[in-house]
Amino acid sequence: MTHGSQPKLTRDDYTKLAEAVGLRGRGGAAFPVALKLQDLPARGVEAVVVNGSESEPLSRKDRLLLTRSPHLILDAAVDLARALRAPHVLIAVHDPAAATSVREALVERDDRVAIEVRNTPGRFVAGEARAVLSGLQGGTAVPPGRRVLPTRKGYHQRPTFLSNVETFAQLAVLARLGSRGFSSTGLISEPGTQLLTIDGAVRRPGVIETPTGVPLDTVLQYAGAEAGPVLLGGYHGRWLSETDGLTLQRPEASAGIVVALGSRTCPLGEVTQVAQWLASQSAGQCGPCVFGLAALVDDFARLTVGDPQGWHDARRHLGLVPGRGACAHPDGTARFLMSALEVLDDDIHRHLSGQGCGRPVLGVLGGTR
Ligand code: SF4
Repeated sequence: MTHGSQPKLTRDDYTKLAEAVGLRGRGGAAFPVALKLQDLPARGVEAVVVNGSESEPLSRKDRLLLTRSPHLILDAAVDLARALRAPHVLIAVHDPAAATSVREALVERDDRVAIEVRNTPGRFVAGEARAVLSGLQGGTAVPPGRRVLPTRKGYHQRPTFLSNVETFAQLAVLARLGSRGFSSTGLISEPGTQLLTIDGAVRRPGVIETPTGVPLDTVLQYAGAEAGPVLLGGYHGRWLSETDGLTLQRPEASAGIVVALGSRTCPLGEVTQVAQWLASQSAGQCGPCVFGLAALVDDFARLTVGDPQGWHDARRHLGLVPGRGACAHPDGTARFLMSALEVLDDDIHRHLSGQGCGRPVLGVLGGTR
């Protein structure tokens, strides 16, 4: 009862509320929640799935929600299942502590719907919506070769409402506060709050809740961030050289990750480590992903040791990889690497001069985690 009881709403209520506050998914794709709800058939859906895989290594917000406020997530999932006439609620979780927390919370509840907590593998692409669905049905947790919407063909090949943990938390708060109360803070276009994971060269790493549209500089100042490039959005995000005047809002702030690189580590070495890790996470079924990411790792490794051909090849390969995989993994990786080439310009020149930057690779981005 910490959060107050969850009002019982209809599917229409949820759709109107989500539309009124412009709520978007908080997992990375930032898809409008109202559109997702509208796409579901009125006759009922197969399942409501809470995606708590959080396979992005830099993100911790979903784990925090599942371990600190599991009832908030369950309230929204259970009431949505009732409103959408779904017989199953599935909580897909990778982190053992988060799974235990949800299981313990379930013992304290008396819900009239079948709720299951299922473990998901820790691989990066295993957290993608369709990979989660594949894993939940006993298959390999990789995105299928075709792009299909879970709202059309989800769990058991039937329409399914699947969203990220924080999205459910926001729906639970929205149901309790109504659109006016929910809109008392944050942006006019997408009011409310957001969870941000802060990491890297900062004095205060962790997860914070801010109004949507908070200035990035305010967040960095609060975290005690060192000067230097900032990565927004995690391993599929983009590098920023300037943070002045930038506000945190969707879709860019969608994964809610802010990492300060600082000035004591080798930026190019950090980026190359993450690229290696991302390439190793390919599900191995689309050529442009398997071969393109491997080629990019090689390009960046050569660039790091001062080979100008590495820079040229990286630019060329970055033009070839996006839009050609069955999921967004190659696109996200290309975005991360392309913005590194643009923003880490000074560092790249130092490496191309043959002297390197003289700094060790400290693993600030956790590329080998
Ligand atoms: S693009 Fe890569 S990660 Fe995505 S499905 Fe294809 S091989 Fe797997």
